[in-house]
Amino acid sequence: MFDCFNRRINYLRISVTDLCNLRCRYCMPEEGIEQIPHPEILSFEEIRDIAAVAVGLGVDKVRLTGGEPLVRRNMVHLVEMLSSIEGINDLAMTTNGILLESFAQPLKDAGLHRLNVSLDTLDPDRYRQTTRGGDLRDVLRGLEAAKAAGFKTIKLNCVITQSADEPDAQAVATYGREQGCEVRYIRCMDIRNGSFWTVEGGDGGHCSTCNRLRLTSKGDLFPCLFSDLHYSVKELGIEPALRAAVGNKPASGHKSETNQFYSIGG
Ligand code: SAM
Ligand code: SF4
Repeated sequence: MFDCFNRRINYLRISVTDLCNLRCRYCMPEEGIEQIPHPEILSFEEIRDIAAVAVGLGVDKVRLTGGEPLVRRNMVHLVEMLSSIEGINDLAMTTNGILLESFAQPLKDAGLHRLNVSLDTLDPDRYRQTTRGGDLRDVLRGLEAAKAAGFKTIKLNCVITQSADEPDAQAVATYGREQGCEVRYIRCMDIRNGSFWTVEGGDGGHCSTCNRLRLTSKGDLFPCLFSDLHYSVKELGIEPALRAAVGNKPASGHKSETNQFYSIGG
């Protein structure tokens, strides 16, 4: 699929839940968020069908995100369902890594190709503070398990305030080098105010080459993270919603009054 600006759209990011087992200060309110009623959440079958239609229209790259994807029950089964769709060359997941120790091997066996694990600091106290309660050791054990399971490309997503020279970011860089993981630096953004930046070491934020569509757990397709435009697969049907999202993808984003990182998945 090509959009009006001749960008080839081949990447679908799927948020499978708004819920999370952490409360990162830059992402979620301390009290958590209101749970979406279960019937409104896309079922695994609906997600599989949307992905299959998207692949038929030219998508070959799919990422599972959230909220925290691994808090959704039976995620391994969804990975199995998606990996059996012919035409997905790159099936990835972004996770905070807290539950990765037990899920790494089953995810690999189910056909997941790649993992991005969020890690902003290697200081246990600052990790607990930033995530409002997370235990850094869980993430480090998760990363070990992912390597042992045979994931070749593990990327670390590191949120920074200003620059990759910050001490916490430097420590993550050193850890990444030791572990053979690439590090992507994401400057802390505010979707509501429209402050967004390119991702160092990644493709995010480069509007002129943006190849993404984002699907929320309620079934809304957002052509741009920094825009309120969205198209409901439930109301329009899968293919019309995909075509509308691609056809109306803005040249670049500005800000969004409705999006949140935890619902759209970053
Ligand atoms: N829970 C998973 C995780 O943290 O990896 C997946 C969802 S999370 C919303 C996806 C990515 O968005 C994470 O790497 C996180 O660091 C990033 N993120 C969240 N809020 C952000 C913000 N305000 N600015 C920049 N990145 C943010
Ligand atoms: Fe949860 Fe990820 Fe948001 Fe942190 S960044 S609160 S781990 S969804």
